[in-house]
This record gives sequence, C-alpha cells and structure tokens, in this order.
Amino acid sequence: MNPIPALRLQALKDLLGPGGFLESAADRAPFEVDFRGIHRGRTPLVALPQSTAQVSDFVRHCASQRIAIVPQGGNTGYCGGATPRAGNDEIVLSLRRMTRIRAVDAASNSLTADAGCLLATLQDAAATAGRLLPMSLGSEGSCTLGGIISTNAGGTAVLRYGMMRELVLGLEVVLPDGRVLDQLTALRKDNTGYDVKQLFIGAEGTLGVVTAACVKLFTRPASTATAMVALASPAAALALLDGLRDSLGDAVTTFELIPRIALEFVCRHVPGSRDPLAAAHPWYVLLEVTQPQADSGLAGQFESALAGAIDSGRASDAVIASSDAQRDALWRLRESIPEAQRQQGPGLKHDISVEPSRLPQFIEEGREVLARLAPGARLVAYGHLGDGNLHFNLSPAGGAQDTALVANGATISRAVHDLVARYRGSISAEHGIGQLKVAELERYEDPVALALMRSIKQALDPLGIMNPGKVLRPGP
Ligand SMILES: Cc1cc2nc3c(=O)[nH]c(=O)nc-3n(C[C@H](O)[C@H](O)[C@H](O)COP(=O)(O)OP(=O)(O)OC[C@H]3O[C@@H](n4cnc5c(N)ncnc54)[C@H](O)[C@@H]3O)c2cc1C
Repeated sequence: MNPIPALRLQALKDLLGPGGFLESAADRAPFEVDFRGIHRGRTPLVALPQSTAQVSDFVRHCASQRIAIVPQGGNTGYCGGATPRAGNDEIVLSLRRMTRIRAVDAASNSLTADAGCLLATLQDAAATAGRLLPMSLGSEGSCTLGGIISTNAGGTAVLRYGMMRELVLGLEVVLPDGRVLDQLTALRKDNTGYDVKQLFIGAEGTLGVVTAACVKLFTRPASTATAMVALASPAAALALLDGLRDSLGDAVTTFELIPRIALEFVCRHVPGSRDPLAAAHPWYVLLEVTQPQADSGLAGQFESALAGAIDSGRASDAVIASSDAQRDALWRLRESIPEAQRQQGPGLKHDISVEPSRLPQFIEEGREVLARLAPGARLVAYGHLGDGNLHFNLSPAGGAQDTALVANGATISRAVHDLVARYRGSISAEHGIGQLKVAELERYEDPVALALMRSIKQALDPLGIMNPGKVLRPGP
C-alpha cells in the first residue's frame, strides 16, 4: 500500500473528532513498538474511537479508501500482532477509550464489557459482584478484554477453567466492511447454525475489531491452598497431578512446572526472592487448589494428599503457604521467571504444547537436541504442565551475551519446532502467530487448515485491510 495522503488523513481525523486520535511522533511512539522492543513499525495516526458506532463508521470509511487498520489493546502480546508494519500506511486503532462495563449479571454468571477494559478491572468488577472471572495472566494489569479474546489467552488457571475461548459467551465485532456483528448475549446454549463468533477468538485482529464481549463468571473460591512441591522429574510431576485429581478432583486450579535453573535465575536476579525449600531439587511445581465452600476441609485434604505423595516417593518435599504473604511469595517466584530470564541475557523463547502425557519425553528429547546445537546454553522449560504447554526457553549460561546462542537462533528454533511437529504438538500454544511466526505457521500447519484460514480471511476481509501481514501472508 502507498502512504496515506494528507487529505485522506484529515478525513479520518474529522471522523474521529477532537480527542479521537493521536498524531505527534511522541504520542504515536508507544503504539509503534511491541512491549519487548522486538517489532517496530510506523503509523501516521492512532485512532481512539469511543463507541462501537464510531468504530463501525471509521472501519467503513477505511474500507472505502482501502486504508489498513491494526487493532491494538494493551500492547502486551508476544508476537508483534498489534504493531503496525514499517510502511507508515496502517492506522493503529486503539480501544483504550472504550472502557465501559455494560453489565454484571450475577444470576446469569456473566459480565459484559467494552473491549478496551483492562482484565484487572474486570476481575475487580466480578469480585464486587461476589463472582470470579478466572482468566489470570502476568499482564492482567495492562492487557485488555479485546486483546485476550483476540489472542485466545491462556494463563495459570486453564487447567480448571479453560482458555479464553471457553470463557466467552457473546461477542460484538465490527467487520472489515464496517458492519456490526451483534452476538452479545449471555446465552449458554445456542445451536442456530454455525457459531460465527468463534472465528474472532484467536484471530489476532485479522478478521475484525472486537468492540465488546460477554464472559462467564464463576463462584468465588472461599478456600485456597497453595504449595511449592519439589520433584525428581517432569514424569513425577505428571504422576503427582494424576494422584491429586484422584483425591481432590476439580479443585486443582494451577499446576505450574518450574525447573531448578529457573528458580536459581529468579533468586539471582529478582530482589527479595529466596529458595522456598532448604535443599535444592531438580524440579518444582507451583500448585494451587481452590473450593467454593469456606469450611470444605480443603487444607487438611491438601496436606494429606501432599504427605501421601512424599511418602510414596512421587514428591520429594513441599512447602505449603500458611499466609497470604507466603502465597504471594510463592506466586512471585513463578511470575518472576520471564524477568529473571531477561536479566540473565538475550535468549530464545518457544511457546510449545504437546499432549500432556508426552511432555516428559519431549523435554528429554529437546534437551538432547539443544545440547548438540547450543551446548553452552541453559534450558529453562517451565509453565503450564497440566495443559501440556511449556515455555521451552534457552538462556545464556554465564549471564554474559552468548553470541552463538543468538546467532544460531533460527537453526535452534527450527530444531525445537521440528521436534514439536514430530510430536504433533503446537508451535504456538498461547501467544499466537502475529508477525513473528507467519512463516512457521506456513511450514507446520496442516495445508488443509491453512487453506481454510485463507478462505475465511478472503471471505471476511476481501480488501485485506484488517491487520494485514499478521497470521497469514497478505494475498497477491
Ligand atoms: C508479563 C506477561 C505475561 C503474560 N502471560 C501470558 C500467559 O500466561 N498466557 C497468555 O496466553 N499470554 C500471556 N501474555 C501475552 C498475552 O498475549 C497478552 O497479555 C494478552 O492476551 C494480549 O492482550 P492485549 O490487550 O495487550 O493485546 P495486544 O497486545 O494489544 O494485541 C494482541 C493481538 O490482538 C489484537 N487485538 C487487540 N485488541 C483487539 C480488538 N479489540 N479487536 C481485534 N483484535 C484485537 C491485536 O491486533 C494483536 O494481534 C503475557 C504477556 C505479558 C507481558
């Protein structure tokens, strides 16, 4: 596409009205780079519409002028999906002024809100109504409802509550031609033809702009128990999860695998962190169980389940949080891993999933592959073990720049993804494709699925104006 002429830009500004856009270089700058500083682009204008009707008018006008649009929420995504490309010909459309909570319906267990609402604000609104919005991410203070829907975010409670797709009841979406798809209801059952709203969940802004959503709420847990459990291996962790499900059923909410090296990095780089157990162990799990009843006897059951696991050799040791402060400290160890890795030096990240039962074998094979390709590097394989999803990352060993690791990044990542493909796993379990993994999607996706994706894109966005170049390579 060509740079947008000044007259056309003026028409967009007139449409948005005073306060409806940002134009100066300083104001545009934070919208032109992703939060990791990896993807950079340019936009002549950041549109800040205030209502669905305004988004609709704006998109319809852009379609008539063939002007490309990049939807942006909190800009916390990992794959550059919200970053405009370099040509200065794509308008960033930020939902940050659309922050109205439209309804909290405790009887229907649902919450309806504008897509620009921060996740943390919605969690608070649910709590005020005595309910739980279970989506929980490290970025919840800055990511938006539209963003977590458009990336189908996961997080730390997927084991019990599912990914974002499972939490969405209804959607309102402005389509690439400006029409408004209104499926904004709290219906739990609706089998009237194709469930078209599903197309927009995880579409990374390539099929339309999500302007509002209705999400599921749940009973708030009244009892919570949290522990850090030490283990000999990922296989032992899986056996522990299996045993806990037998004894505690659905109460198991969080099951996060942490390797020793990750804990060492956190204790080294993040002030105030300390080893939760006296001795060092090769693996740990951050484990949380919750129950809606206050006097459910959960703490006692949890303690005896863990004691049983230690007695039977499935676990090596455990510390159970006895206060909110201790619980927060255990959670901080888990949440600090990305920051600790960042401070350890430039590394490589892979957001992979395989069937949970095959993860232990995958980790071992992956370790062997990496020992060959990156002998000096440290494997930091951590994350959502119960979902089969690991952040299969590499960090430099010594804290200094490992130039070989960065220089061979493409070869190493290709080997990791090839291994994932052999396991019929996913090369992007949580974070999507964005602009980072377009070629990887082409390489690893089932060709029939890829062809269907292209057909859907063509059907909904024949002009190719909605977040072009993200997820799929632009058409001819
Ligand atoms: C500290 C940290 C921890 C994280 N932890 C997790 C985790 O545990 N699990 C996980 O899944 N992710 C995690 N993430 C990444 C996650 O993708 C984002 O936090 C979140 O889902 C993106 O929301 P956002 O509002 O920032 O969207 P953005 O980054 O602004 O956008 C992401 C994508 O969605 C599109 N988009 C945004 N809003 C809309 C809209 N209204 N309509 C249409 N398209 C839209 C954009 O075009 C882009 O393609 C983490 C990120 C950080 C920084």
